[in-house]
Amino acid sequence: MKKILLIYTGGTIGMTKDYESMTLKPFDFQNISEKIPELNLIDAALDIYSFDSLIDSSDMNMEGWRNIAEVIYDKYDDYHGFVVLHGTDTMSYAASALSFMLQGLKKPIIFTGSQLPIGELRTDAKENLISSIHFAALSNEENQPLIHEVCIYFEYKLYRGNRTVKMSSNHFDAFKSPNFPTLGESGVYLTLNKEALLIQRKSQLRYYPNLSGEIALIKIYPSMSLEFLINTLNLKNLKVLIIEAFGAGNIFSNPTFNKKLKEKTKEGLHIIIGTQCVYGGVEIGKYEASSIWLRVNAISAKDMTTEAAITKAMHILGNPESYPDFTAAFNKNMSGEHTSSEINFS
Ligand code: ASP
Repeated sequence: MKKILLIYTGGTIGMTKDYESMTLKPFDFQNISEKIPELNLIDAALDIYSFDSLIDSSDMNMEGWRNIAEVIYDKYDDYHGFVVLHGTDTMSYAASALSFMLQGLKKPIIFTGSQLPIGELRTDAKENLISSIHFAALSNEENQPLIHEVCIYFEYKLYRGNRTVKMSSNHFDAFKSPNFPTLGESGVYLTLNKEALLIQRKSQLRYYPNLSGEIALIKIYPSMSLEFLINTLNLKNLKVLIIEAFGAGNIFSNPTFNKKLKEKTKEGLHIIIGTQCVYGGVEIGKYEASSIWLRVNAISAKDMTTEAAITKAMHILGNPESYPDFTAAFNKNMSGEHTSSEINFS
C-alpha cells in the first residue's frame, strides 16, 4: 500500500472549536482517521508528522521551511508522497521556497490548508485534506508517483506552488495561479493536466538547506519618498533589491534615485524587477519608463510571482558555490517558476 506522510505545521486547518469554551484549539492529527473516517477509504496509509509548536503561518520563516524540507528529505525514500498542512497566509511563500530547496523531485509535495477550521460545520478543510492526499497518492502503471513537484491544493484545484498567490482572505477559493494553468482538478474524478506537470526523468533529489536573508522588497507608488528609496539602497549587507514596479516594469524618473541605483549596482547590488500586476509580466525596455533597468543591468522577474522571486533570490544567494553567477541563476527556470520555452530540468 502507498504511504503518504502528512506534515502538520499549524494554521487554521488544524483548529477545532471547543464548543464549551467557544474557542479554537489545535486539533490532534494523530487521531485524524477517527475524526475523518473517510480517510480510511483512500488507498494509502497515512503517517503523521506534527511539529512541536504549531504556528500561524505568519510566524513561518526560513527556519520553518528548512524544518519541513528536512523532514521530507530524510523520509523521501519511505513515502510515495507528502502533504503539508500549513496556514494559508504564507503558503505560497513556503511552497515556492520548497520548490527551490528540493530540486529533482520525483514525488509530490502538496501544501494545503483551509479557510475554516477542521472542526467547523461548514469547513473546507476536509475536502482540501482528502483531495490533497488523493492527488499525492496518484501513480502510473508502475506504481510511481505521477506528480513530481511542489503544489498547492485548494478548493478543488491543484496548482504549481511557485505560481500561486493568496488572493482572498475570506473566499474558499483563496488561491490563484495567474500566469500558469492549473495542474489538476477535483470533480467527480481527479484529473491531471499532464501537459502542465513537471516531469523529472534522470534527476536525483538535491536538497539546498541554505537561504540568505540579505534581500529587500519594495513596492513603489506615485510620490514615494525619495529618502526611503535611498535609505533602502544604502542598507548594510543588502545584496538583492526586488522592486515591484508598475505595469510591464515601469518606474517614475528621478535622477537622484537613478544615480544611486548606478552606484549601488556597480558595487554589486542585484536589482530584480517585478510587477504590481497580478497577471502578465515584466518587459524591460518596452516603455521609456523602464529603460533605467537596462542601464543598471537589472534582472527581470518575468511573469514570476513576488513570492517566487523572493524565495528564489534567497535560495541563490544562500548557495553561492552552486550559483557563482547570480544573474544567470535567476534567469534560469529552476522549478517551473516562470514561463519559458527552454525549461530543461536536469
Ligand atoms: N492566519 C492563518 C495562517 O496562515 C490563516 C490560515 O491558516 O488560513 O496560519
